[in-house]
This record gives sequence, C-alpha cells and structure tokens, in this order.
Amino acid sequence: MAKKGLKIGVDLGTMNTLVYIDGHGVIFNEPSMVAFDRNTNKLIAAGSEASQMAGKTHRHIRLVKPMEGGVVSELDATGSLLKYVLGRVNTIDVDFKRSTLLICYPTAISKIEMNAMIDLAKRMGVYDVFMEKEIKAGALGAGIDIFSPDAAMVVDIGGGTTDIGILSLGDIVVSDSIRTAGNYLDSEIEKFVKQKYQLLIGSQTSEKIKIEIGTLKKDIPSDKEITVGGRDLKTGLPRKITLKQSDITHIFEEAFERIENIIRKVLMAAPPEISSDIYKKGIVINGGGALIDGIKEHMEHSLKLKVSIAENPLTSIVVGSKLLLRNRGNYLVKPID
Ligand code: ADP
Ligand code: MG
Repeated sequence: MAKKGLKIGVDLGTMNTLVYIDGHGVIFNEPSMVAFDRNTNKLIAAGSEASQMAGKTHRHIRLVKPMEGGVVSELDATGSLLKYVLGRVNTIDVDFKRSTLLICYPTAISKIEMNAMIDLAKRMGVYDVFMEKEIKAGALGAGIDIFSPDAAMVVDIGGGTTDIGILSLGDIVVSDSIRTAGNYLDSEIEKFVKQKYQLLIGSQTSEKIKIEIGTLKKDIPSDKEITVGGRDLKTGLPRKITLKQSDITHIFEEAFERIENIIRKVLMAAPPEISSDIYKKGIVINGGGALIDGIKEHMEHSLKLKVSIAENPLTSIVVGSKLLLRNRGNYLVKPID
C-alpha cells in the first residue's frame, strides 16, 4: 500500500506532549521530557521512559524538560523530543513529504524559537509545517465556536504556565500568561512540607499530594489524608508523614488569587461588547489544572462569572488541532466538514 500524507497536530506542553492524527485520533500522550547521556550527548530516553528517571538519575544522565516555563529552554532538547514524536508517527504508514504538521505553541514563545521549530520539522522531512497558538487550538478542542462574533474566554492551567485568552471572529483579541500553574502548586507543597515537617520530598511526591488531596473547596468535612515519604532534613534518613487536605488549602487559595487576578486584568483590557459576551457565556477552563477539586465553585465565587470545565481538559489542544489543520488554519469562518 502506498504511504499517505497525513494531517498531524502536536501539542508541545510544558508537562505533556500530545500528537493527534486526522483519522487516527490521539496517538501519543507522554511527558515532555528527554534524557541524554552526558558523555556522548546522545538521546537515551524520551516521553514516559524519560519521566520514570526523574529524581533518580546519576551524573551520567541529563534529564531535560525542554518546554518548561512555557518557553523553549533548550532548543536541542526540543528538537530531540520532536524527532522522537515524529518517529512514533512514522510507525503509521506516512509520507512526511505529503503531510501537514501543526505545532501548537504557548503564547510566551519567541519568533526565533518558532522558526527554529519549523526548521527542525522540515529537517525531519515534513515540509508543510505551520504553528498556532495553544489557546486557540484549546478553545476549538473544548467545543467553542471561535469563529463566531460572540467572544469567548479560555483559561488554560497547565504545568508551567496559566494562559488566558479572549477569542472572537477566529482569533485572539486579548491574552496574558503567568507562571502560576501546576508546577507552582507542587513546589509550594514541597516548601510547606519542608518548613512544617523538616522533610524533603520530590516533585513526583508533591504532584501526587496535589492530585490526591488538593482542593479549592472551603467546606471539607471529610478532610482526606495522604501518607508520603521523603528525606529528613536533619538526620538525612527516610521518614513518613501524613498530610490532611486542610493543611494545604492555603497554598491553593494563594495560587488561585494570583490566577484570578490575571484573569481580571485580561477582562479589564477587553472592549465592552466583549465583556458583555463573556458575562453571558462565562469562562471555559482547559489544561490539567482544570481538574483541581472545587475549581469551578471557587472561580465562580471569586470572579462572579459562569465557569465551565472543558470535557477533556488534558487533550483539548491537540484535539482542536484537527480543525486548524484544514486549510492550514487560514480562515476566519468555520470550515465545512
Ligand atoms: P502542559 O500543557 O503545560 O503540558 P497539562 O495541561 O498537560 O500541562 O497539565 C499538566 C498539569 O496538570 C500538571 O501540573 C499536573 O500535575 C496537573 N494535573 C493533572 N491532573 C490533575 C488533577 N487531577 N488535579 C490537579 N492537577 C492535575
Ligand atoms: Mg497545555
């Protein structure tokens, strides 16, 4: 059978990289991480395989999260990740020369970084490459008709950054981004445990605490608990502690005050007709942070606006790339199926 040209969408997130292929669905969903051999500089692992090494490496292994902080921290590592991902696509019968590749990028990325990524893809043999803002792809993936004159607001709470955008008539009208997102919550949990219990915990442990007991609810009658291990600050030996939900709610409160303040700033920068649309339609939350317990109620109370959580907040961006891949995103009206 002849190899086919495919429509491929990639979401290079700060934490997770996803690949969508028109007609195949989401074929890749793994951590945005690569591991190099320090001596030879060769890639030794990527994706899930690399993330399993986190916190456990010796001096010969260098682990890199190329997109950390919402910008390309290391271009070579980004290239390695992209190469790995396209290698996975290559397991399907694909003719790269006849394929179209869409790379969804965070708002904070520079023009130089964008061009470098396009070059990387071209060097891999994919000639038709274009890029789109994540917030736009995410809005489409969350089912928002961004081509309508009725403006919509999307907040994407990822790992490294929270990105906020207001969209109308097919593009972004106002946007902003802050580095208060999932990783910030993890590191605040680590700081708290260190101060209160003199215990050092790793980032995988703090993420687990966040996901299992983290909440924005004020009323927590059951006050769930979690027991975790780490290294005692004084003795240097392993030790365990039990944390309660109520112990860490202040961390979530503080982080969301920052996030809600930046949402207010974006709302204040919007023209009045757009404000009126958002008042009617409310806000949609995307990204892994959308799964935090009690987020909807907290934001509705604080912003006095309707808030809804995207149906699949972790895959919205890459699924949204499907529509953008048609006509390479060059349209301001909804493309016909
Ligand atoms: P990015 O786009 O930056 O790669 P994602 O949208 O994939 O980020 O979200 C990853 C973040 O979401 C991580 O910080 C992760 O810990 C967090 N996350 C994932 N699931 C949950 C959950 N159930 N509760 C709270 N946070 C979550
Ligand atoms: Mg993302």
